[in-house]
Amino acid sequence: MEHTQALKEKLNIPRKIVITTHHKPDADALGSSLGLAGYLIKRGHEVQVITPSDYPGFLHWMKGNDDVIIYDEEDAKVMKVITSKVAEADLIFCLDFSCLSRINGLGELVEKSDSEKVLIDHHQNPQDFAQYVFWDTGAAATAELVYDLLVDMDESDLIDTDIAEALYAGIMTDTGSFRHSNTTKHVHEVVGQLIGHGADINKVSRLIYDNNSPERMKFLGWALYENLTIIPDLETAYFSISADDLTRFKSKTGDTEGIVNYALSMEGVKIAAMFTEREEGVKISFRSVTEIAVNEIAAEYFNGGGHKNAAGGKSDLSLEDTVDKFLTILREHKKEKLKTTY
Ligand code: 5GP
Ligand code: MN
Repeated sequence: MEHTQALKEKLNIPRKIVITTHHKPDADALGSSLGLAGYLIKRGHEVQVITPSDYPGFLHWMKGNDDVIIYDEEDAKVMKVITSKVAEADLIFCLDFSCLSRINGLGELVEKSDSEKVLIDHHQNPQDFAQYVFWDTGAAATAELVYDLLVDMDESDLIDTDIAEALYAGIMTDTGSFRHSNTTKHVHEVVGQLIGHGADINKVSRLIYDNNSPERMKFLGWALYENLTIIPDLETAYFSISADDLTRFKSKTGDTEGIVNYALSMEGVKIAAMFTEREEGVKISFRSVTEIAVNEIAAEYFNGGGHKNAAGGKSDLSLEDTVDKFLTILREHKKEKLKTTY
């Protein structure tokens, strides 16, 4: 890409580097961050990964996890370290997000910092804040872009097992285990190379997918049995999870992840949603089949965005009113026969 050579030159001498990623990091956010960190550390840079919030326990196996700082404005000591690291960095890498608003208060610190910024991302509509941009919505995962960048910089020899497994985790999850339409020939080629660098794909898959707590399994069982609502005429199915439900099932970070996909897995369902009542408002996950663009619904009505078939947003309305709003929107769109935005 255009900025590869310039970045390579910038990295010619040891730099102070901060890597950050989006709120509630998923396997692509954390895997691309820690994979990149692993490479930069090998190159002699001083690297700090900072996440805007905590992330699920099934990601804690990645090398470098213990050195990640989680942004927490309630903890003055943590905030002091973060503020000085962000202010003093030569380079700040922003991975798997492209709007600084997606990283909460950390976004303001990053915006204020004089450091040069590097954006590596595959989401739509990037904000213009970085000097080095590696942005491609055609990429299935940010981890894929990190891999491509290392190859383009002629640095792929430095990819070891730990880096390969972190990057593989991002690609595996963002392609829904190589089932989504973003799973290209290139994705498989990259994965082939990562296996060549030592990635144990069975191990990574087990660590991420076969690590459910009994509480999460019970929550899933309950959600499918009692919570799932199916609206056949709208070809839609959704979950609506209240704060009390989360408490009842002792829900931890990551426990709700992936559940929306069960709604989409049903015969006749083209749009799936999950509404979750959180402290900061109702968080929404949308999924859809190929021809329907849920990111448009997320952006237009729910202050969000994302990919065509996997998007998200938020709402300040109550849980019930948010669900009603969603159903009203779908009915209106159906009436207008706007098939693509439906
Ligand atoms: P998930 O449903 O797994 O939380 O998110 C799916 C995708 O939707 C994410 O990869 C991200 O691209 C996008 N997304 C989720 N929540 C938001 C949000 O609040 N704002 C934006 N812009 N995108 C979101
Ligand atoms: Mn991603």
